[in-house]
Amino acid sequence: MGFFDSVKCFTGFHDWTDWSYSETNQCGQTRKCNRNCGASENRTSHDWPEFKYIASDSCEQSKCCSRCGSEEKKTAPHQWSEWDYLSEDRCDQERRCTRCQQPEDRQLHAWDVWQHESPKSCIQVRFCRRCSSGKEEKRPEDKDHSWTEPIRDDCKRSEQICIRCDQRKSKHEFDLHVFGSWEEDRQGHYRRRCMECGKEESTIIRPANFPNNPSNSNDTLRRHDDHFR
Ligand SMILES: [Zn+2]
Ligand SMILES: [Zn+2]
Ligand SMILES: [Zn+2]
Ligand SMILES: [Zn+2]
Ligand SMILES: [Zn+2]
Ligand SMILES: [Zn+2]
Repeated sequence: MGFFDSVKCFTGFHDWTDWSYSETNQCGQTRKCNRNCGASENRTSHDWPEFKYIASDSCEQSKCCSRCGSEEKKTAPHQWSEWDYLSEDRCDQERRCTRCQQPEDRQLHAWDVWQHESPKSCIQVRFCRRCSSGKEEKRPEDKDHSWTEPIRDDCKRSEQICIRCDQRKSKHEFDLHVFGSWEEDRQGHYRRRCMECGKEESTIIRPANFPNNPSNSNDTLRRHDDHFR
């Protein structure tokens, strides 16, 4: 064997023969390396026909290897009939496999639409149109409430109220301050303060709403006063 061939064999790249059965009526196969490095491999290779049902009233299937006679079994998917209600005023249904007669049950209600439980509740209910026991209830998620627009609570919090069930939720915000009018300090900086929490804002650029004259300034103040009323 040449050097390169032995490197190939050493690293696992053999020059395999075709697979061949070792014994008649057995399904074990072997193959060897053509380069006589001593490598060989084994596998089992059955000669399977198609699966066949073992009886007309069963869903079991089997197949036998035509060489060695080994058998494999499986259960084929059931061939279900249509679902049928078991009685007029109940919602239990049954179906059966048309081959093996295996039954399966379920409940299938004929739901009416979701409705609010009462005018002041966000819990929704629905009833079955067929039977008297079918009732489902749905607790409201956030999206199911009828929230008002956010209402300012203080400088960092707003609140929403559900107009149906009166539930409240508050939200953290950071810009709900009630600023007074801008004032110019000695350095020429512009400052204003929140009249509620005292937070100060400053800028060196003259703000667009900086009061030009005293009357304008009074207007600004009066607007904030209105806010508090
Ligand atoms: Zn080899
Ligand atoms: Zn076999
Ligand atoms: Zn079946
Ligand atoms: Zn029902
Ligand atoms: Zn609600
Ligand atoms: Zn504030």
